[in-house]
Amino acid sequence: MQKKLDAGFVSAHFPEVASIGISMIYNQRGIAKALPRTVNFFPGSSALFRVNCLSKECVDGGFDLTQVITAMIANHSESAKGDLNCEGNGPSAGHSTIAYEVAIQYA
Ligand SMILES: [Zn+2]
Repeated sequence: MQKKLDAGFVSAHFPEVASIGISMIYNQRGIAKALPRTVNFFPGSSALFRVNCLSKECVDGGFDLTQVITAMIANHSESAKGDLNCEGNGPSAGHSTIAYEVAIQYA
């Protein structure tokens, strides 16, 4: 909660951004079914571009898209895709990954 407040609003950091959409396929080791997830950010959202890891045993896990998104905005890029591993201390390295696609609309 504190972290969210500290991040401030998208509009404060990136006034030129109208919306940010992150579509991802979440894969967790040991679970056969990949899970599609979508997260959207708007000017009034907090600028914390972090997606939680869904593994129950995972500690401090998650996927941080902040660097991806800030680099995209700096380049005025509208779409990007890639993969990320969970950052947390989970049951095993590489216990979960996402394949993401980010789409940014500018005001
Ligand atoms: Zn994790």
